Amino acid sequence: MPELPEVETVARYLRETVVGETISAVVIADSRFADLEEAHELVGRRVVRVGRRGKYLSLELDDDWVLQLHMMMAGQILVRPKGHAEDRFLRLHFDLSGDIEVRFCDSRRFGRAHQLEAGAYREFLKSLGPEPLANSFTTRRLLEALASRKVALKSALLNQQLIAGVGNIYADEASWRARLHPLTPAGSLSDAEAGRLHRGIRQVLRDGIASRGTTFSQYRSAEGEKGEYQSQLRVFQRTGEKCFRCPGTIQRIVVGGRSTHFCPRCQPVSRVDGS
Ligand SMILES: [Zn+2]
Repeated sequence: MPELPEVETVARYLRETVVGETISAVVIADSRFADLEEAHELVGRRVVRVGRRGKYLSLELDDDWVLQLHMMMAGQILVRPKGHAEDRFLRLHFDLSGDIEVRFCDSRRFGRAHQLEAGAYREFLKSLGPEPLANSFTTRRLLEALASRKVALKSALLNQQLIAGVGNIYADEASWRARLHPLTPAGSLSDAEAGRLHRGIRQVLRDGIASRGTTFSQYRSAEGEKGEYQSQLRVFQRTGEKCFRCPGTIQRIVVGGRSTHFCPRCQPVSRVDGS
């Protein structure tokens, strides 16, 4: 699933290509996919800004409309010149002035496109946790987000109400960098552990953006390119391989229904079994 670095990579390209352009048509190729009952309201609107919050992408339009896009499991948001060869699993496209199209393709159909009024959109954003790359996201903020949470650290990191944008891949990578076992009770971190986790989260997200995201199968940038961060992963989907940091071997467990990868030797089980 695209996480913060993948969505940010798409957002950056959209900022270069669609800001200032006007929507000339909204074409829904799969009516079960998009919740755009008033799509006609979008036609003639200009893209004022491209936003990203957590894993949500938004095209902010003039006249206070917002088009919110979420790639979910397998969505691809592609910017194509008009007349470009067909893309597979096309569900929806927006035609823009400047002879470009924004195409939303999705083999799994879990992606979402919503149109919202700006006020409702701002309300929605309040339901998300802090942006982990914002200057205001400090170790103290992280400790506050996790305070009194008894759930496993892995589950807390995936909770978008606690921290926005971290998903399965970057949660495992950040925990490895912080030397924290994924089953550590989230609310039990010491200041030092939270400091390591804070650095780990920001480092993996920044590195992920620098590599234009992680591609295992579906994810593509808005230019249709694969990401490259998969070559830098330290634990995710490395089950049975040697740890990059110690003589340990990467293990896989399931936490909250999600595949979780860690090194049992350098991410020890302190506090997990009462030990
Ligand atoms: Zn290790």
